[in-house]
Amino acid sequence: MDRVILARIGEIALKGLNRCTFEQRLARNMKAALSDCGPCKVRWSQSRYFVEPESEDFQFDKAMEMLSGVFGLVSISPAYVTTSEYENISSLAKEVAAKAMQTGKEKYTFKIETKRGLKTFPMKSPEISAEIGGDLLEAFAGKLKVDVNNPDFILYIEVRENTYIYTEIIEAPGGMPTGSNGKGCLLISGGIDSPVAGYMIAKRGVSLCAVHFYSYPYTSERAKDKVLELAKIVGRYCGGVKVFVVPFTDIQLAIDEKCREELSTVIMRRSMMRIAERVARKSGCSALITGESVGQVASQTMQALYCTDSAADMPIFRPLIGMDKMEVVAIARKIGTFETSILPYEDCCTVFTPKHPKTRPSLSEILEEEKKADFLAMENEAFEGIETIYC
Ligand code: ATP
Ligand code: MG
Repeated sequence: MDRVILARIGEIALKGLNRCTFEQRLARNMKAALSDCGPCKVRWSQSRYFVEPESEDFQFDKAMEMLSGVFGLVSISPAYVTTSEYENISSLAKEVAAKAMQTGKEKYTFKIETKRGLKTFPMKSPEISAEIGGDLLEAFAGKLKVDVNNPDFILYIEVRENTYIYTEIIEAPGGMPTGSNGKGCLLISGGIDSPVAGYMIAKRGVSLCAVHFYSYPYTSERAKDKVLELAKIVGRYCGGVKVFVVPFTDIQLAIDEKCREELSTVIMRRSMMRIAERVARKSGCSALITGESVGQVASQTMQALYCTDSAADMPIFRPLIGMDKMEVVAIARKIGTFETSILPYEDCCTVFTPKHPKTRPSLSEILEEEKKADFLAMENEAFEGIETIYC
C-alpha cells in the first residue's frame, strides 16, 4: 500500500489574489520541516497538500510529527493512495479498515465519509460511501457494523485524480506560514510568558529573532542557558531564532544606585526597549514582542505599559495582553516550553525587583528620573557588548 500525507490549510484558503504567495511559502516551510525525513515531493491542489515519499527510506512517522507543528496547516492525515477506479478503491478500503481493526476488540463499528473532488467519477459521494460500506460489511461479516453516530472508526475516502483513504485526522497549529508576515524581535526572559508570546506571534507568520538581557554575575550562566534552550524550542516552530544576549549589569546597577526605587522597574524596562529597538532595526525587524499582560505585575499596569511604550519608536506587540496566567501555562505546556521555564533560575528582573513598585507611574516623573544616569552612554556600551547565538 502506498502511503502519503494529506495536509489541510485553514486561513490561507480565505486569501484572495495573493493566496499563491502564501501557498508557495507554506510548501517551502513544509519541505524545510521534512528535510531530515528522507526524499519526498510536496505539492498542492484545491486546498490540499500532498507529501509523497520518493523512497522506501522516507521516515513517515517523523514526517507526521514535523508537519504537526507547521504553521498554516490545520490538520494532517496519514493516508493510503490508489488510482480512482472503483475496484481499487474498494480493495484499498478493505485493507485500511483491516488496519483500523487491530486494536484488540472483537467487533467494530464504522462509518464512511466520502468527498468526491473528481467530478468525472461515475458515482456521487453518498453512493460511493454506501457501496464501499456494503463491500466492507461483506468482507468483514460478523466483525463489522455500521454506526453513524458513534463509530469506532471513520473511513475517509477522497476521490480526486487519485483516491486517498485514511482513518486519522491529526490537529496541526493553524495560523499563517512562517515568514509570510515579516520579522519581529522577541524580548525573551527565562519565564513562562515570553516564549509563549514568541510562539503566538510566530503562529501569525512572523519570523523571529530574540533579545535577552543578562546581568552576570547577578544572574547565572545556567539562567542564560535556560533562555537559549527556550529560544531553541520556540525556534523549532519558526525556522530558528537568532538570540542577541545583551550585557545589562551596569545599567541595572546604575538604576539601582541612582533612581527612585519605586520607579526602577519601569526605568529598566524602558532601557530594555531602547536597546531592543536598536537590535530590531539592525536585524530587519519591524516590531518588538513581549510576554506582558495587563495587570500581571506592577510594571504591566496600563500606566506602566504606557511609560514603557513611549521609550520605543517601534510598535510593541504583546500577544498575551488579555490572557490569564492559566491560559498562558496551558499553551506553554502544549508547545513544550513549560518544563524549561519553571527551572528555578533567577532573571535580571527578579534580582532587582523593588519592594514597593509604583503601579501608576507618570511619564514625566520617569523622564525626570532618567536624567540621573547617562543612559545613552551605558546603552551604547551594552549594544557594543552584545553576544550573538544561533538557536
Ligand atoms: P516571563 O514569564 O516571560 O519572564 P514575566 O511574567 O516574568 O514574563 P516580567 O519579568 O515583568 O514578566 O517581564 C515582562 C516581559 O519583559 C517578558 O515577558 C519579556 O518579554 C520581557 N523581559 C523580562 N525580562 C527580560 C530579560 N531579562 N531579557 C529580555 N526580555 C525580558
Ligand atoms: Mg520574567
